[in-house]
Amino acid sequence: MFHKRFRSIATHLVSRIVLLALIGMSLFVSLLAAWEYESGKRSFKADMERHADSSLLLLSSALWDIDPAMVGKQVKWLGALPQVGYVRVRATTTGELFEAGIPPAADRPAVLKVDIPAPQAVKAAASIPLGTLEIWESRRYYFEQIRNSILGVVLGYGLFTVMVCAVVMVVMRRQLQAPLRQIAGFASDLKPNGLQQVLVLDRPQRDYVDEIDLVARGFVQLQSDLQGHIAHLDRLVAERTAQLEQVVEEVKSLSLTDALTGCWNRRALDERLNVEVKRCLRYARTLSVVFMDLDHFKRINDEYGHATGDAVLKELALRCQRELKTQVDWLARYGGEEFLIVLPESEAAQAHQLALRLGSVIRNQSIDIDNLSLHVTASFGIAQLQEGEAMDSFLHRADAALYEAKAAGRDCVRFSGAHLRRQEKAPHKPESGRRRFRKGPQ
Ligand code: GH3
Ligand code: MG
Ligand code: MG
Repeated sequence: MFHKRFRSIATHLVSRIVLLALIGMSLFVSLLAAWEYESGKRSFKADMERHADSSLLLLSSALWDIDPAMVGKQVKWLGALPQVGYVRVRATTTGELFEAGIPPAADRPAVLKVDIPAPQAVKAAASIPLGTLEIWESRRYYFEQIRNSILGVVLGYGLFTVMVCAVVMVVMRRQLQAPLRQIAGFASDLKPNGLQQVLVLDRPQRDYVDEIDLVARGFVQLQSDLQGHIAHLDRLVAERTAQLEQVVEEVKSLSLTDALTGCWNRRALDERLNVEVKRCLRYARTLSVVFMDLDHFKRINDEYGHATGDAVLKELALRCQRELKTQVDWLARYGGEEFLIVLPESEAAQAHQLALRLGSVIRNQSIDIDNLSLHVTASFGIAQLQEGEAMDSFLHRADAALYEAKAAGRDCVRFSGAHLRRQEKAPHKPESGRRRFRKGPQ
């Protein structure tokens, strides 16, 4: 559509009006010419009959008196009439010919042919006509008449057509072309983010509306509908985005959370502890961890079933979470029945306090599941991050301390680092234990 040439509706309309006027004028002029010709012929015959009537008396006397001059004069007078082309009088007795005008073609009959009778007084003596009077019309004269009336019609028709075209042009330009161009410009400048701009047409104030006003109204309606639709879409997108973000958050949280206990899983532990270690090393802050492992947990599984074991793990994680209290410390399930408590900004002594408290809570509060009242204990291994120490080594030391706690009889706390050993407490007789540092869950 855009590659086609532009042609204004006004021009199109005017060209159609001109074409129609030409066709109409041609038809009208043809009919007029035919009518003029026929009516001219009729009026010429009537005219000539009148002139002949008035001339016959004179011609009759002149022929009877053998007065050729008079006959010639009368013929000349008739021939001088503008509508007469040729006049001829032929004397019957002498065969003399009187004529005026230009002789017509041989086969063209006279419009009027009358006998010239003898004068009234001698009619009894001369019964035959004295001669004949023949008159032909002047074709030139009649064609000129027709041409003049056609010219008048053509001029009038042409003037009328020009006026109509001028009025159409002005009205179309003012009422249609200018506002339509304005609307087209407005529409092409319209952008999705600029829908609030208003279409104002340069039109005079009127107490009525026309098609252009309807189009302008349609635009206003369309803009408002589009704005509403876009706002609706924006709302939908915002809603969907929020839902999506929520789902992503949930998935992320699920991927970092242990399904059974709800605390951080091993993956989250690795990520978060890595960050903690780096932060503490950079800013020379303290950081401690406590490895917690349930004692003889296998027995619970063996005696009461795996489901009960699960419930115990769940309850234990809950109790530990409650004891942590602070927003800073956090708990992760390291694997199996083993947990790691991370204590940023805490020294080994504070970790020790916490481990003792946890050990006491676990030991002294029975876990009640399905009419069972279970008593469990846990062993703890503590380590404080040393200057420049890597995360693996840090965990390894805490794990080794836990191993020591197990070896020392379980249900006790052990430190990594000889200078802290005096704080350790071994309430039970050592039992055989097997400890090893491992990276993955058991
Ligand atoms: P120790 O005092 O030396 O730690 O003895 P333990 O029995 O606690 O340790 P061991 O490593 O011999 O056994 C750990 C058990 O924990 C074995 C396994 O069945 C159980 N376990 C590990 N993960 C889960 C779990 O998600 N649910 C349940 N119910 N049991 C688990
Ligand atoms: Mg255990
Ligand atoms: Mg274990």
